[in-house]
Amino acid sequence: MLELLLPPPVDPLWDLTEAYGADARPERLNLVLGVYRDDTGTTPVMAAVREAELRLAERSASKEYRGLSGNTAFNRAMLAMVLGEGGGAADRAVAVQTVAGSGALRLLADLVCRTRPGATVWISDPAYVNHRPILEAAGLAVRTYRWVDAEGRSDTAGLLQDLAQAQRDDVVLLQGCCHNPTGVDPSARAWEELAGLAARNGWVPFVDLAYHGLGDGLETDLAATRLLADRVPEMLVAVSCSKNFGLYSDRTGCAIVLGASRASLRHVETALQNAARTLYSMPPEHGAAVVAAVLEDDGLRALWRAELDGMRARIEANRTGLAEQLAGLGRPAEAAVLARQKGMFSMLPLTAPQMLRLRSRYAVYGTTAGRINIAGLPADRIACVARGVAGVLGE
Ligand code: PLP
Repeated sequence: MLELLLPPPVDPLWDLTEAYGADARPERLNLVLGVYRDDTGTTPVMAAVREAELRLAERSASKEYRGLSGNTAFNRAMLAMVLGEGGGAADRAVAVQTVAGSGALRLLADLVCRTRPGATVWISDPAYVNHRPILEAAGLAVRTYRWVDAEGRSDTAGLLQDLAQAQRDDVVLLQGCCHNPTGVDPSARAWEELAGLAARNGWVPFVDLAYHGLGDGLETDLAATRLLADRVPEMLVAVSCSKNFGLYSDRTGCAIVLGASRASLRHVETALQNAARTLYSMPPEHGAAVVAAVLEDDGLRALWRAELDGMRARIEANRTGLAEQLAGLGRPAEAAVLARQKGMFSMLPLTAPQMLRLRSRYAVYGTTAGRINIAGLPADRIACVARGVAGVLGE
């Protein structure tokens, strides 16, 4: 049997991570994966998470199977966090715990396929590396819309023009904030126009939230999602707790579905549970229990918010620092491109060969498309990354 297996495509990001592992240069710097690292290169367990884990360890009596929708306190807390406290859109939504954001994307893609087999889902160009594979694996067709222009600015005109072609039966996957890989988001006005387009033309927004809290602050980062939720009857949201709770390996997230009314949701939860049953049965409890414990306790919640704000401020300081250094090295135009971006990633204005040279000459690893994890850049290495970028630009 196994001799029939053709060589499968290798995940480009993990492939680069392996190449980094084999690099013997002591100064090598891994900015490939989207993982927050402090100045010592560690991805810390957040203090609020650690405290919640201690409390849970003291009171947990059993690891018996949980319900098919996962941790219900977590699901409630996610609905309130994403859609806002006190009614509104959350009253016509259901949430099911998933295996992180990726699990939510896949479960919701399955839901789309159950209702509209072979439907078209629009994704940004460029997109998060796993969007197309997940959607295609679920049996959906993929089309793309423009996201940034040649100067690396949000291409509102191109975006609206492309999505004007989206049909009633289509679904449009939008990253709610801190776009991966570009670090470029539409303006508040462009989101308004997008929401109007969705409402007029009837396509279903499918929002991917993986970086809320790491761009302009939690509420601001969720504003576009809430705006869409208020304007359209139906919407899907994939939520990841990997980055903003630092729960990467605990695989914590949830799938949210909004319907025109509560009655319209009657089969949704069971459909999502059935989809999960055939994929992984049930999601892991630990991360969801931790998030619920943090969000349900005023003290832990405040501590988490402060830590999240601290991470966001550090990411911003890294970005500003890199832009300033680059400007100081005679590259003001490239510095301005970087300064406009937000979130965990920066898209360096470098070509693929320049990114390869950045790797071979300066030991700085980003993706070939130019993306670097600005949240993983130690403060004392900012100058050397700027020198590398200016160096390859000058060659
Ligand atoms: N969506 C986007 C845009 C991402 O960048 C990521 C991870 O990098 C995910 C979803 C999935 O995150 P996870 O499955 O680790 O929660």
